Formats: sequence, C-alpha cells, structure tokens
Amino acid sequence: MLDNKHEIGIKELDPEVYEAIQGELARERNNLELIASENFPSLAVLEAQGSLMQNKYAEGYPHRRYYGGCEFMDDVEELAISRAKELFGAEHVNVQPLSGVPANMAAYFALANFGDTIMGLALPHGGHLSHGHGVSFSGKWFKVVHYQVDPKTELIDYDVLLKLAREEHPKIIVAGASAYPRIIHFDKFKEICDDVGAYLVTDIAHIAGLVAAGVHPSPVPYADIVTTTTHKTLRGPRSAIIMCKEKWAKDVNKWVFPGIHGGPHMHTIAAKAVCFKEALQPEFKEYQKQVLLNAKTMELELNRLGYRLVAGGTDTHLLLVDLRNKNITGKDAEETLGEAGITVNRNTIPYDPQSPFITSGMRIGVPAVTTRGMRESEMKIICELINKVLMNPKDKKIVDKVSKDVKELCRAFPIYASL
Ligand SMILES: *Cc1c(COP(=O)(O)O)cnc(C)c1O
Repeated sequence: MLDNKHEIGIKELDPEVYEAIQGELARERNNLELIASENFPSLAVLEAQGSLMQNKYAEGYPHRRYYGGCEFMDDVEELAISRAKELFGAEHVNVQPLSGVPANMAAYFALANFGDTIMGLALPHGGHLSHGHGVSFSGKWFKVVHYQVDPKTELIDYDVLLKLAREEHPKIIVAGASAYPRIIHFDKFKEICDDVGAYLVTDIAHIAGLVAAGVHPSPVPYADIVTTTTHKTLRGPRSAIIMCKEKWAKDVNKWVFPGIHGGPHMHTIAAKAVCFKEALQPEFKEYQKQVLLNAKTMELELNRLGYRLVAGGTDTHLLLVDLRNKNITGKDAEETLGEAGITVNRNTIPYDPQSPFITSGMRIGVPAVTTRGMRESEMKIICELINKVLMNPKDKKIVDKVSKDVKELCRAFPIYASL
C-alpha cells in the first residue's frame, strides 16, 4: 500500500540529501566552473533526466523489447536516435550506453577480441584511462601500445604514429583525448589505419559539441566506430552514445545490450533526445563558436601574463597550462584557486616530471562559463583573477579579495535562477 510519505517532496522526506543538493546548486551558482569536462545542461534536460521515464524496464531496442508497456520508451528512443543521426550525420546510432567508458568497451569488443592489440594516446599525454591504461579494463584485457605527443610540439606526430602502427599491427587505433588542446586530424588517423589494416575508433567525448556544431572536424566519415559522452561540450545528461557504419550496427547493438547492461536508462535517453534537439538549433552553433572565442581569448591573455601553454595554445574548448615557470604545482594551484571559488583541475603535462597526483599543469575549460553567457571580456577578468591567486597563493587577503570578485562576476551571470 502507498504509505502517506510516498508523495511528499525530498525537502520534507530527506532534509540531509536536500541540503546536499541545495549546497551543490549554490556552489554552481557562485563559483567559476572551469573544469573542461563539465557543463550546465538546460532545465529541460535536467527535467527529462529527473523524470519517471526512469521507472520503466525496456530491455531490447525500439519495437523489439523484452517487456510490455514500452510504447513511450520506443517513442523517446526513436527520437533520440533520429536526432543524433541528423546531428552527426551517422549511419547508425546506439543511444543506450550508460557512460563513456562502457561505450568504449562496447566499441572495442564489437571490433576486437580479448588479447588483441589496441593503440591509444597515453594518459599523461592527454589520453583517457579507457584508451588502454593498466588500471582500466582496456589495459587489462587488450595488449596495449600507447602513442605519445612529440616532445617539442606537444602534438600528435602522424609520421611517428604510422611507423609505430606498422611495427605493432594493432587491431584498433583509438583517436581521442581528454586533455589535448589542438585539433585531432581524424582523416590522417584513417590513412594510417588503412595502411596497417586497423579499425579506427574515435572517442569525441570532450569535443562532441564542437563537432556537432561544425567547428571541429568530424570523425564520422572516417571512423568505423565513434563514441562520445553527452555531458561535456555537448551539454546533455551524464551519458554516452555510439555511432558507427551500418556494417557494425549489429555488433555494436549486441555488445551494448545484452553484452554490457540490462535495462537501458530511459530517463537518460529522454534527456539525450532533448539535448540533441537543442544541439540542432542555430543557437547551439553560436554557443560553440563563443566557446572557441573564449578559449582563444584565454590563450592570448594567459600568454600575456607569462604562462606557457602546452602545444602553444588551443583550437578547442580547453587549455593546458604548464605551471613550472610559476613555481607552483598543479595540486597547489587547484587547491588555492578552489579557495578563491575558481574550480580547475590539476593535470599532467606531456613528459611531466611530477607524479600524476601532484602534476605540473592545470587544465582549464570554458564550456560552463560560456553557458552562463560570459564572453571575451569576462575571460580576461578570469585570467587576471587566476593570475592574482597563483602569484600570491599564501596571501589570504588577496585570495579573499579574489573570492569576492568571483562571487560578483557570478552574480552578473546567473545560472539556474528558477531553481
Ligand atoms: C570523459 C571521457 C570518457 C569517460 O566518460 P565517463 O562518462 O566518465 O565514463 C571517455 N573518453 C574520453 C576521451 C573522455 O574524455
């Protein structure tokens, strides 16, 4: 029987969890969120994600379910699929992966077997754990050959990559990164894959929004399989999708379900459908253009303030700052900036002399502040504030003053005002 508490709100039913949610709301409103993998999705996305679409089991795919009552599940999944196809120009899309790592797992197993060789960008050079790192399934279940960026240019050297691929004969080459500020040339990856008979998997988790808006080259024409998260520049719910050539559709679908999960998260699929609708609007293209302008502005401003940027700058939404000439580690920078209300993450730089826990770098991303409406002039202010803190990390007065300036700037660009 329905008890009388079933239909009251969270504030009354569970004040502790409610407080944590309110705390996070205040944190997002009052801090400068510069973590490159984060963003603020629309209320419509959050609404779908928090909806009762999550109540339903819908194992299987539209019109081929293992449960009854799936008519609205079919509607929403078909909307998500057709919008994603339109957005990225993909032949086949699977919108069920639960997140980026399981999407990569399904992609690898659709094309390769346990013990086959995969090649991916090394983690300290900007790659992702799921591209073959030893602590990940990808490093445990495949033979991994990592490629690195060039020590001088800090870019992927496609000639070196070709040479390595010819020596190692990988089954799959993975192209994609979490901390690579420059354009990735998927066409060159494709040439290398063809030369050595490898499959191309591209993971555009970070840059999916840029790709969707046409401001970064798309891997879709070249790759056997494209994976992406949906919550970074794409500004949707915390989740992922897989796109592929028609010839891989069956294998991908089987690996996603029943290979890796049971019931798909239908509330998240609904939220992905909303996200793709938004991404198809002209405003989304404008947003992504502004993301690039803002990142470029930060590049110029940080250069002016004497910071060295990895790979010389950015073509994307993120910048990787080498802090060694500023005599502060990534860890200390992350902590003091945090005290001032500026959220960044420490990050290894290529050939980093420091441990991955300490690091010599920090990664800065502009997607979230751009969503708030901040533009070039605010980027300049943010760089000044960052510099003030990093030049005076132990000076409490200065850090407090910056913290006040951060709050004021945030107040001028409200987010989630109606929550
Ligand atoms: C963020 C990211 C992922 C992981 O996504 P999760 O949703 O956290 O599992 C995978 N690949 C790349 C390149 C990423 O940047």
